[in-house]
Amino acid sequence: MRLKWPVYASGGLRRREIETLDLEGRHLELFSSAIPGKQDQDQVKHEAPVSKGKCAMYGCVRVVEPIMHLELPSKDRHRMIKWRMHWLPSYPIKTCRCGEINATREHYKICPRLQPLLLKLLDHYGTIPDLKHPVQPLDYILNNLPRNEVVLGNKRWIKAWPALIRVLREIDFLSHADADFNLDDEPDPEVTVKQQQNNTQS
Ligand SMILES: [Zn+2]
Repeated sequence: MRLKWPVYASGGLRRREIETLDLEGRHLELFSSAIPGKQDQDQVKHEAPVSKGKCAMYGCVRVVEPIMHLELPSKDRHRMIKWRMHWLPSYPIKTCRCGEINATREHYKICPRLQPLLLKLLDHYGTIPDLKHPVQPLDYILNNLPRNEVVLGNKRWIKAWPALIRVLREIDFLSHADADFNLDDEPDPEVTVKQQQNNTQS
C-alpha cells in the first residue's frame, strides 16, 4: 500500500510556526489544535490538496508536517509533538531519574542515563551543524524528518528513526520518576520500521 501525502495549509501547521515553536501562546494554540486523533489523521489524509492560489491567498507556506503523517505508534507521535511543544519534559519540571533536580529539556542533552541512546541516535543520524542555544540536536532532527515513509527506508533513517523513538521514550521515562512506566509494553520501533517498509513496497 502506498500512502498519498497531503499538502495542507490553513487547517494545518505552517513550517515557520513549527520551527520557531516556543512557549508563546499563539504557537501553542496552533500546534495543539493540530494534534491528531485517529479520526483527525484519517480526515487529513483524505483532504483535497489546497490549491496554489488558495494557499497564496492565505499567505502560508505549503508543507507536510511529517510527525502528523508518518506511521508510528500514537504514544511516540505525542512524544515527538510534546518535545516540539516544550511539553516534554512536562511542567512542573521534575527530578530526573538520574537525580538531577529540576531537569529541564536542556538537561537531556547531557543526562548520563540518556547518553547511550542519544549518542546512538546522533551516530545514526550523522552530521548536525552547530546549533544556537537553546536549539538541541533533537530539535534539529525533528525539524528534518523525512516527508514520507519511503525515505524512512534509506541508509540514515532505517536506523535513526527507531533510535529517535527510543530517545524520546527514555526522556518520557526519565522525566517522570514517580510514574509507573513499562516501556517494554510498547511496540519495538525497529520492527515497526520494517513493517512500514513492507507496506510501502507492497
Ligand atoms: Zn537525567
